[in-house]
Amino acid sequence: MSEILSMKNVSVHFPVKGGLPFFNRGVIQAVSDVSLTIRHGETFGIVGESGCGKTTLANTMIGMVKPTNGQVLFNGTDLNALPREEFKRTRRQMQMIFQDPFSSLNPRFNVYQLISEPMFIRGEDSEEAMVARVVELLELVGLSSEDLYRHPSDFSGGQRQRIGIARAISLNPSFLVCDEPVSALDVSIHAQILNLLVEIQEQLKLTYVFISHNLADVKNICDRMAVMYLGKVMESGDSDKIFRDPKHPYTQALLAAVLDTSFDERRKQAILQGDIPSPINPPVGCRFWQRCPQAMEGCKTVPPGLIEVEEDHHVACHLVNGFPNGELPQDYDRTLAKPDVRS
Ligand code: SF4
Repeated sequence: MSEILSMKNVSVHFPVKGGLPFFNRGVIQAVSDVSLTIRHGETFGIVGESGCGKTTLANTMIGMVKPTNGQVLFNGTDLNALPREEFKRTRRQMQMIFQDPFSSLNPRFNVYQLISEPMFIRGEDSEEAMVARVVELLELVGLSSEDLYRHPSDFSGGQRQRIGIARAISLNPSFLVCDEPVSALDVSIHAQILNLLVEIQEQLKLTYVFISHNLADVKNICDRMAVMYLGKVMESGDSDKIFRDPKHPYTQALLAAVLDTSFDERRKQAILQGDIPSPINPPVGCRFWQRCPQAMEGCKTVPPGLIEVEEDHHVACHLVNGFPNGELPQDYDRTLAKPDVRS
């Protein structure tokens, strides 16, 4: 399967302003040196705790945020090197479904205005064509033409998210970022919206980036994935391989937090301590060392690279790959390299 999008050494830094004019108090390293590829037609999951940089990464993929360093290639073209008009045309192929269906829809617009707005801005369609297209989209997402002139306040959370999905696909995109699309919904309609996304993907041959902190959802619908921590990718590749044999201590800890009785005792009991550090002054070596139950002295100063450990499975951990000089500490015992198991 060929690549639709690839990121090469992408970093996104934001200055922290405050105090005197033009005085920068520091830099938020939201995304640091991320490289990954997304293939045509797949669902690529991005997981991690709040503040790990997953939304900034997704916004950078679709050109809403310009990277400080690195390249974003969409169908082989550097998105941020395109002339303005061409960028706008390419950007239409990349859309987003937002997390909160209550705040993402303008309450003063009716359904027709909400869904047709991207077409209206593009300015290529007649009123008649836009009405026909909106009706078609409503039927695709499980609503009907009777809903055309109703307002968001007339709908439930699940129905509003259906409107958000219809709006996102109104311009026939090929690449869709789903930013926690079900996290604000009741559990009862959570599965309905996920099923709808899967059906639409199959029908329209879309590629999805699925951002979530819910690993059960990622396990169910993602083909490949990246686990992020403090702006960096800790583990990435084929989802089945990562769920079957998570190699990074952070991935193991995230999986341990999922209440799934099929997980073995070791995973259940690897509990992550402490909070995610500030992205303004991230740790120098491995970004995870302050919370890692297996951190070694060298982890504090030597950043681990993201290295392929098997086909389509990359891990950034000295425990798995050894230190860059090819060695683990002499007294290091690999048999101790396992999560912090509590009795
Ligand atoms: Fe833990 Fe060291 Fe691996 Fe980082 S590199 S996850 S601190 S063992």
